[in-house]
Amino acid sequence: MRYRTLGSSDLVVSEIALGTWLTFGGGIAEETAREIVDTAFELGITLVDTANVYNRGAAETFLGEVLATRPRESYVLATKLYFPMSDEDRGLSRAQVLKQIDASLGRLRTDFVDLYQCHRYDSQTPLEETMEALTEIVRQGKVRYLGFSEWTPAQIQAAVDLPGVERFISSQPEYSLLHRDPEHGVFDVCAANGISQIVWSPLAQGALTGKYAPGSPPPDDSRARSERMGWAISRHLAPDSLRKVEGLRPIAAGLGITLPRLALAWVLREPNVAAAIVGASRPGQLRENASASGIELDDATCAAIDAALSA
Ligand code: NDP
Repeated sequence: MRYRTLGSSDLVVSEIALGTWLTFGGGIAEETAREIVDTAFELGITLVDTANVYNRGAAETFLGEVLATRPRESYVLATKLYFPMSDEDRGLSRAQVLKQIDASLGRLRTDFVDLYQCHRYDSQTPLEETMEALTEIVRQGKVRYLGFSEWTPAQIQAAVDLPGVERFISSQPEYSLLHRDPEHGVFDVCAANGISQIVWSPLAQGALTGKYAPGSPPPDDSRARSERMGWAISRHLAPDSLRKVEGLRPIAAGLGITLPRLALAWVLREPNVAAAIVGASRPGQLRENASASGIELDDATCAAIDAALSA
């Protein structure tokens, strides 16, 4: 496993990170989730990404339990706030920042998180209020570093321009061979301001693994067939997306690597990306994904990929 530094901080994370959306706290069997966490440590994965809202607190509670026996300095714990936790609890107001960090720390059974991320931008709360509250919890020692997810370049710049508050060091956008939006502005404003990307759904929820053959029903054991986890994958299974995945297959084969490894090596080719946060439903998937760290794609391969995606 290779490691990269997050933005202008001294926080070092593994290039492949373990995500917990959908899977942990209910989506997959608890025993399997435990095996996945053990496998992550064995593979040298240090960054674990969660959120208060994942399975309404259950993902954090599960992590709190399984991480309790491990030295706190052996992993980098990232969580988030913003999405509703109840009818009243949502957003990034000062009251919510103070309340949600304490709730997350309780579930995670720790005194601090390494990275606290605004899950989205809150247009109902003045940015100054959010940043001042986040600064407060950093200075209290409850949070080491700050990040955001899916903010626009203008929102990022506005936060960067605020005086007297703690700086953001990470951005968490969706980024994959099937979703390249952050290339249009987010990477540039972040690179200019000491902010790295830790990207979500780098395998397009599994679509980029090649398991969904065009014109065939999804495999029985896939996310697309899961009642609990399959609600958000359909956009990646559109015929045009699956056709693009088929176009990538010969490129991976030519390099002697699997499609998931190609897809992950591709997001990691971007210097502003520090980590690819993968989900896993089985330990074997995490092993395969972790082995993408260290694969370097040359310019000719990247050009062939661009051509396949635009065909
Ligand atoms: P991925 O794109 O990595 O998809 C993960 C799923 O793909 C797995 O659960 C598995 O599904 C399948 N898969 C993974 N590896 C393989 C493999 N090698 N071979 C075959 N199938 C494989 O990521 P997620 O969509 O799960 O997102 C990753 C993380 O990003 C989340 O856990 C979360 O931490 C973060 N995230 C953040 C968001 C945000 O708003 N900030 C939004 C969404 C995610 P199966 O086997 O069931 O088909």
